[in-house]
Amino acid sequence: MLTSSAHRKLSITALALEAVPLQGQCPLAQLPRLADEAVQGLADGMVYFQALGSMREDAAGKSVPWLQLQGHVDIELVCQRCLEPVSTRVQFDREFRFVESEEAALAQDEDSQEDLLVISPQFDLLELVEDELLMALPVSPKHEKCPGDLKLSTADADFEAGAERPNPFAKLAQLKTPQS
Ligand SMILES: [Zn+2]
Repeated sequence: MLTSSAHRKLSITALALEAVPLQGQCPLAQLPRLADEAVQGLADGMVYFQALGSMREDAAGKSVPWLQLQGHVDIELVCQRCLEPVSTRVQFDREFRFVESEEAALAQDEDSQEDLLVISPQFDLLELVEDELLMALPVSPKHEKCPGDLKLSTADADFEAGAERPNPFAKLAQLKTPQS
């Protein structure tokens, strides 16, 4: 497996020509912009990613590198309801096409479904993974049920169930009545 620093200096063309999935992982703490989003002291998770390069023909029939990139992390975010940490799975799955220059990227961006990146001899894959995870962060992370709410909501549920549904024992008692 490549070390984290090798993931920061990839040859995209070589990756695309190999067309073999590259699996990697990186401690969350090594992606400082993303780690900043985690609850302080709880940024000890791992980021996992998989990159698959390929060469595809563009509209002009020229072979250009593409990259399929997936990544995920389980990160402790601050719950916006109770302010306690909430473990959140953040993930993305995207495709990128490489172009030769910023100008080409700007010129083609509007017509393209896929995201465009400018090819560079030493491509920083970890930076792209970090960018994508930052964009995939939930705007307002929340517990499905906040830990502090559990008692209260259980009591509410019992109360509502009791009000709506007839007591099964009451029904049983009705059935028995004629026989007695
Ligand atoms: Zn909460």
